[in-house]
Amino acid sequence: MTPEILKYLFPNPLPAVADIEAKYPKRALKEGAKVTRVAPSPTGFMHIGGIYAGLLSERVAHQSGGVFYLRIEDTDQKRLVEGALEVIANSLGRYGIVADEGVHTDGTDFGAYGPYTQSKRKEIYQAYAKDLVQKGLAYPCFATAEDLDLMRKVQEKSGLRPGYYGKYAKCRNLSDEEILKKLQAGEPWVLRFKSPGDYEKRMIIKDLLKGDISMPENDIDIVIIKSDGLPTYHFAHAVDDHLMGTTHVIRGDEWLSSVPLHIQLFVALGFKAPKYGHIAPLQKVDNGHKRKLSKRHDAEANIMYFWEKGYPEAAVIEYLLNLINANFEDWRKANPDVPAFDFPVNFSKVSNVAGALFDFVKLASISKEVIAKMSAAEVYDALLNWAISYNPSFAEKIGAHKNYVTAILNIERGIGNKSRKDIVKWEDVEKDITYFFDDTFMRNMELLNGYDADDVTAIADGFARMYDENDDKQVWFDKIKRLADSIGFASDMKAYKANPAGYKGNVSDVAKVLRVLITGREQSPDLHSIMQVLGRDKALVRLKI
Ligand code: GLU
Repeated sequence: MTPEILKYLFPNPLPAVADIEAKYPKRALKEGAKVTRVAPSPTGFMHIGGIYAGLLSERVAHQSGGVFYLRIEDTDQKRLVEGALEVIANSLGRYGIVADEGVHTDGTDFGAYGPYTQSKRKEIYQAYAKDLVQKGLAYPCFATAEDLDLMRKVQEKSGLRPGYYGKYAKCRNLSDEEILKKLQAGEPWVLRFKSPGDYEKRMIIKDLLKGDISMPENDIDIVIIKSDGLPTYHFAHAVDDHLMGTTHVIRGDEWLSSVPLHIQLFVALGFKAPKYGHIAPLQKVDNGHKRKLSKRHDAEANIMYFWEKGYPEAAVIEYLLNLINANFEDWRKANPDVPAFDFPVNFSKVSNVAGALFDFVKLASISKEVIAKMSAAEVYDALLNWAISYNPSFAEKIGAHKNYVTAILNIERGIGNKSRKDIVKWEDVEKDITYFFDDTFMRNMELLNGYDADDVTAIADGFARMYDENDDKQVWFDKIKRLADSIGFASDMKAYKANPAGYKGNVSDVAKVLRVLITGREQSPDLHSIMQVLGRDKALVRLKI
């Protein structure tokens, strides 16, 4: 293309490609170190799948002694949302997915391979695009939206693949004179890649997760620079991943079909292509059918959902690691106390490459385990922290009773495998502990409808008289047994089973009556501990009926 055309296409001075290359030297990393990135678009929404991909990328980089960086892909200016950088940084940071290089929430960069925001790299893309034009590998296209629409209709009618390729790539063969005339006339244009591919030929794509996949070559002349001068994703990612030294790209399945094009772009630009791994969207079961988790229909597609519900970050990470590699569970059993991030993630063993099922039952069981391992003080802090954002009145209450709430949370905790595993998420705790506070305690006497009212009174009065808060659990329980015997309930289960008709009931009935009176519930953690935490006065008031 003539210098005159180039002047129209690239009116502003651009850095030379060689100078750009010099600013992005090869990274000095040890053999086998991987460079990965997370490259979200700032849409103000972080999909749980984005955290999954970010976690996998981060682990793979850092476990290999490599680099993990954050790049903001904002070339689609229509999708920009205020505050989106915070959403990205908070989501990743909250889950401990820490980038070595990238963009702070105020938009400033950290790291030597920036800028890490694509809209700040316009000149760089332009320089490479100009280079392609000069090499005859890219050309301006003047097709209007109507032209393209017509093209697609014609293709559809003839049962052909839609797209700007072959004889439909009308501007591919414009002469320099024709191009210049159109530019002089001020016709709007975009820059297209001149694809060297042949759709009839096939190529083998080596996907890190899915293995070898045979695909047709790309023959579509895709847009590389849009009319606003910004690049498309295809072109931008090629330039960026090359300059930033990315070795492994983990991204969503929606890009899998573009790999033949991406490989062509890397070749045309004279770059070494990274290795690609494509993640299928997370699935859910809906009405008995599997379908992908949808940003629009499923609240849990948004990572915010998990903060709002109060799933501990560590539980979400453990759950995602378990989705990534099925052997995580065995590893966790063998290494119960090491941080989850020490788990050696393996690309070649990624489970469910066709789409992992997001399973709330599994998440709940992992979350219970994670919370069971925390100390009461850690649970208190995490709970308060959550409540401050999502349940302010509860935050106020537990904030005002730190020692009391910590003691509540300490019941049946810190006893290894026997620790309580009943908290799944912070949202549930408020209703679990209502009976510890007089203003939310409810007697629920109807739970004792099956018992004779005189027996209930006898149990309540009898135990109130015997109760000593200094009794250990054994002495405490022996008193319940004694009480049982004294009012016609069997304290000896064997004796009871041999002759149930000879008793009003057995010691477990007595314990149940006490539990209902003290907690208003049929089920609760260890009643002796609950009474200890409540304190003598509160306990005795509840035994007065
Ligand atoms: N910005 C792209 C997206 O959000 C990232 C794809 C990639 O990681 O290359 O889908």
